[in-house]
Amino acid sequence: MENCIFCKIANGEIPSTKLYEDDDMVIIKDLNPQAKVHLLLIPKQHYANIMEMSDLQAATLARCVKKLSELADGFGLENGFRLVSNKGEHGCQSVQHLHIHILGGEQLADKMG
Ligand code: 5GP
Ligand code: ZN
Repeated sequence: MENCIFCKIANGEIPSTKLYEDDDMVIIKDLNPQAKVHLLLIPKQHYANIMEMSDLQAATLARCVKKLSELADGFGLENGFRLVSNKGEHGCQSVQHLHIHILGGEQLADKMG
């Protein structure tokens, strides 16, 4: 997808701090962290959000989340973390390529929204 910042990050056109990469995804540090640890899980395939996700992409995303469960402790998230995926205007999604925020490394607020 042309002019998609996360496609460019995933294929290395735009530099980022990549903590993990495989055929399905990259996990990078968020540019503007909102927690002590703030990472982004970005599937390599472009789709805007879960409403546009194919069955195959859903299976890939499940594989990515499973892999994250194996990696989390190594990212300093051994005491827990929060996964967030913003969608659309009310969700304040700013990049139209599906991504999951991974937040932790400290005690997070007990309320969301
Ligand atoms: P959204 O608002 O779409 O849920 O999340 C987009 C996230 O991407 C934001 O947290 C923002 O800080 C992050 N972001 C935007 N541009 C870049 C970039 O070029 N590099 C990195 N590492 N993060 C970015
Ligand atoms: Zn994209």
